[in-house]
Amino acid sequence: MLEIADVVQEGKSQKSFFFRHSIDSKPGQFIMVWLPSVDEKPMAVSYRSKNEFAFTSQAIGIFTNALDRLKKGDKLGIRGPYGNSFSLKNNSCVVAGGVGISSVSTLIDSLKNPLIIYGARSKENLIYMKRYEDKKMIIATDDGSFGRKGFTTDALDELLSTKKIKIVYTCGPEIMMKKIFEICRKHKVELEASLERYMACGFGICGKCMINDRICCIDGPIFNSKQLNQMPDFGNFARLKSGRKVTLKEYHSVH
Ligand SMILES: Cc1cc2nc3c(=O)[nH]c(=O)nc-3n(C[C@H](O)[C@H](O)[C@H](O)COP(=O)(O)OP(=O)(O)OC[C@H]3O[C@@H](n4cnc5c(N)ncnc54)[C@H](O)[C@@H]3O)c2cc1C
Repeated sequence: MLEIADVVQEGKSQKSFFFRHSIDSKPGQFIMVWLPSVDEKPMAVSYRSKNEFAFTSQAIGIFTNALDRLKKGDKLGIRGPYGNSFSLKNNSCVVAGGVGISSVSTLIDSLKNPLIIYGARSKENLIYMKRYEDKKMIIATDDGSFGRKGFTTDALDELLSTKKIKIVYTCGPEIMMKKIFEICRKHKVELEASLERYMACGFGICGKCMINDRICCIDGPIFNSKQLNQMPDFGNFARLKSGRKVTLKEYHSVH
């Protein structure tokens, strides 16, 4: 159980919860966050320094709305870090969608001069703008309220047509990541994507987060293009808490 040392409002419905505690996590790894008598859910480590770490949560349902009401001094159960981590290769481009940027933020902090393409529905959902103001960023919003009007995928396709990039790292809506997978295949560029599947244990024993023959919480959540190529569920299907396999559309509509 750790005490919340600080709460930072990052965006309209996104908050970062800081803990004065060291954590031995690598870029892309996640923790299981427990709010007693509410639930326990996976969250990426979004800030990490010697004696401090944080996660950033977007309020969308019962658990994340309960988190949203927490204050400095309140306590949360934290276990982890879990999962694999991103490789750290130079000459890279990081593509993030919505709150998915919280899963690639410690990666951005670890890479040398990554190019960043970041998209969100609208300006008020863009987070970490001050944090990355010194980075090379292309911003895209669906409604054109900030940056270019359009999708991250269009920006990436243009970029890879004009610039030699070694690897693309991505996290965000799976429909976006599937498109990025196809764009990277077209331009013969490596890809690593951080996937989201329903997780309960977080360390490979409950089997809830299966995606094809992979256990997302230990084989992933980061998968490279070769692995994604062998995962027909990627971009198509996911399993509900019950284990029932449904389309991604239905998966995200279930609260
Ligand atoms: C590895 C990983 C890292 C994540 N990192 C972050 C992060 O940094 N910030 C953030 O805001 N969100 C993150 N998420 C998603 C976060 O876990 C869900 O948004 C949260 O669980 C929603 O719970 P809820 O009760 O508020 O909403 P609900 O209404 O219960 O669910 C809303 C949606 O959240 C997803 N979800 C619900 N429960 C789970 C679960 N146990 N495991 C995975 N997905 C679930 C489903 O897609 C569901 O449609 C991450 C998920 C995974 C798997």
